[in-house]
Amino acid sequence: MAKTEKVFICPKCGTVGSSEKNNASCFKCGYPSMVPTEYELKRWNELSEQQKRETIEAAEMSLKKDEESNSSLISFLNTIAIIWLIAGLLGAIIIGISLISDGQIGFGLCALIGGSIATVITAGTVMVFLDMAADVRRIRGILEKK
Ligand SMILES: [Zn+2]
Repeated sequence: MAKTEKVFICPKCGTVGSSEKNNASCFKCGYPSMVPTEYELKRWNELSEQQKRETIEAAEMSLKKDEESNSSLISFLNTIAIIWLIAGLLGAIIIGISLISDGQIGFGLCALIGGSIATVITAGTVMVFLDMAADVRRIRGILEKK
């Protein structure tokens, strides 16, 4: 008995394909994870053009939504990193200065310098990673548009 072929849609270029497996990559643009539809190939071929078009549009929309939520997540995390940086530096300065004015100069300097360095390193690392994530997405977007 032949296996049932499920219909997949490429959310990037709208190509329709079918596969017996649970995942498929687009044979036209190479997009690695085509969106599975609820239809088997036989059933798909019976759909009206209107129904097909609506299903393809829904698949394309799902990718756009993904991209939007990804980039807003990146900018949200970037904002958190900046707030973290400012709050951490302010905290280090305030704690350091209050310790120094209490006469605990050694502790104060440690808190001031150590706190600042720790804050800059953690916030910097997060921002570098976010930047790389954004770059990868941008490059991928450019490549896939070709
Ligand atoms: Zn494609």
